[in-house]
Amino acid sequence: MSSGLEQLYQQLILDHSRTRHGNEPLTDPSWAGSSHQVNPTCGDEITLEAALDGDNIDVRWDGQGCSISMASASVLTDLIAESGREGIEAVVAEFKELMHSKGKTEPDEEVLGDAAAFAGVSKYPARIKCALLAWAAFEDAYAQARAMKG
Ligand code: ZN
Repeated sequence: MSSGLEQLYQQLILDHSRTRHGNEPLTDPSWAGSSHQVNPTCGDEITLEAALDGDNIDVRWDGQGCSISMASASVLTDLIAESGREGIEAVVAEFKELMHSKGKTEPDEEVLGDAAAFAGVSKYPARIKCALLAWAAFEDAYAQARAMKG
């Protein structure tokens, strides 16, 4: 990866960690599947809620932690809005594969969008869990939402 691209990716992660899409107070957990995930090695914590809305998935989350974990949740929120129920599983699978690639896989920006920015994170085993935390919460909450409403 060129250093210019790496800088662009770092800036993207920083931007998302500051302006967190989908980070809203969780006032009524009864409307959706809900998952609380903790990454004890870094201190990251996320609660994410997902509900089905036709072909779309409503999602919101609250949490605290390092900029990678917060940015990843923000990026995931955007991707869920873009992909809907039809495309989100492919996005999640692609992101998990990238995170386990040890920096050897070029990210597929067509599928991953802004989540491609986390490609460099996969070189640092200690940070992979930071990046995956929100995604684990989403998979859990989404499965619950589907079980509720088909
Ligand atoms: Zn972290």
